[in-house]
Amino acid sequence: MTDPLKFSNIEDIIPTVQALRNTFDTGVTKSLDFRKKQLQQLINLLIENTDAVVESLHKDLRKPKIETVIGEISAVVDECQFMIKNLNKFTKPERPSKRFLMNATDKTLIRKEPKGVVLIIGAWNYPINLLLLPFVGAIAAGNTVLLKPSEVSAHTAALVTELLPKYLDQSAYKVINGGVHETTAVLEQRYDHIFYTGNGAVGRIVMTAAAKHLCPVTLELGGKSPTVVCPDADMDITASRLVWGKFFNNGQTCVAPDYVLVHKSILQPLVGAIRTKIEKYYGNKPQASQSYGRIVTDRHFDRLNGMIERIDKSNIAIGGETDANDRFISPTIVTGITKDDANLMAEEIFGPILPIIVYEELHEAVDIINSRDYPLAMYIFTKSEKTANWIMDRTQSGGVCINDTLMHLQELSLPFGGVGPSGQGNYHGERSFTTFTHERSAMFKDTSAEKVNEVRYAPYTEDKYKV
Ligand code: NAD
Repeated sequence: MTDPLKFSNIEDIIPTVQALRNTFDTGVTKSLDFRKKQLQQLINLLIENTDAVVESLHKDLRKPKIETVIGEISAVVDECQFMIKNLNKFTKPERPSKRFLMNATDKTLIRKEPKGVVLIIGAWNYPINLLLLPFVGAIAAGNTVLLKPSEVSAHTAALVTELLPKYLDQSAYKVINGGVHETTAVLEQRYDHIFYTGNGAVGRIVMTAAAKHLCPVTLELGGKSPTVVCPDADMDITASRLVWGKFFNNGQTCVAPDYVLVHKSILQPLVGAIRTKIEKYYGNKPQASQSYGRIVTDRHFDRLNGMIERIDKSNIAIGGETDANDRFISPTIVTGITKDDANLMAEEIFGPILPIIVYEELHEAVDIINSRDYPLAMYIFTKSEKTANWIMDRTQSGGVCINDTLMHLQELSLPFGGVGPSGQGNYHGERSFTTFTHERSAMFKDTSAEKVNEVRYAPYTEDKYKV
């Protein structure tokens, strides 16, 4: 595959960031009409170019059309519509009720102001969603924005670079393309907020660069998201939703179920139900299925293929087939391993391999989860809200979805983000607006009752301060 993406010149980075700051300083992005128009243009871009977006994601990830429509285009369009509808409300200054009698005649406000120049660095696995969804929040909040798409999903990065200036204001929003060299140079500049999505190793690099300018960051990272399947779970629904969430985008989803903890008594029924669903969704030959994606690059394929080669063959309950020429890995279910398995339980899998580990008492499942970094997501399949709460009370994760996978991300009223090693800060819906907003306190002091104020002026005589 020829690389369609032209990297930006390093010399262009400083003038590009400066131009964004100049534009911000004119105040043009603060106008609500301007923001709404830009958000509408982003909708138009995605709707009018749906075929091109679908095609670029197919080239990058063999992403099935419906996965692009649901997971990339609709997600961003919905967020734009939500922001346009609520922008007047979100930007209205708050008038908090006052705590002190002394301030009774003063006016207090919390102004919702844009932070300034924002840098958004996207990741390759949802290259439209992870770049443009935070972009929606940054536009809505009134910032100027530098976008840095992932170079790994090169076709989509090239498409965004081509389309964006045709639809949105070119002085307020700009795109820089490149790999480590270019991104390192981008990170040397001063921003007012950096929003990064990707792995934790680069997250540390981003945070270190931001620290030099005391720049706030949002880090959307990953990790091993556990799924607990309790004995009372609905087996058919559990298998449907687990298979769908795990193999959506070929397992290359930051919140994909990474490993399953299942009660010993239902291991075999669960594996059987998963087999039925895999056959139903992808047929007997998943490689021929139009609903099954591919691994993004040879490097990522080699990593996952290496994992499959190291698995004891007797532990592969389903799948295990690979084809390097096609970057294909079949839906693979692994049993018979322990929580300490050095191959599958060390790092985030980020591909279509799902290890299943058994537990006998629920606290064992909780202990396994707690022995690892806080994950980005957690899934619990049970009919009992009490059981779900029991697990949640004893663990931590960015978010939780009970009796489903991935779906909590689609609900705009829920903040999306990690905790500790899986990230910091959050977005989606109103949180996308607040992430890129500075809440500026303003107090208009009354000048008509100066006598009342004299008590705080020097000289500080004893009679003025009665505790
Ligand atoms: P990636 O390779 O696309 O990298 C992400 C970005 O970091 C890219 O724009 C890339 O150019 C930049 N980058 C890479 N190396 C860099 C360096 N040394 N210095 C500066 N910038 C650099 O994506 P990835 O990291 O492979 O993404 C996969 C990881 O991201 C997984 O851990 C996944 O769980 C996580 N992820 C998290 C979310 C989320 O929303 N929390 C979403 C998707 C992926």
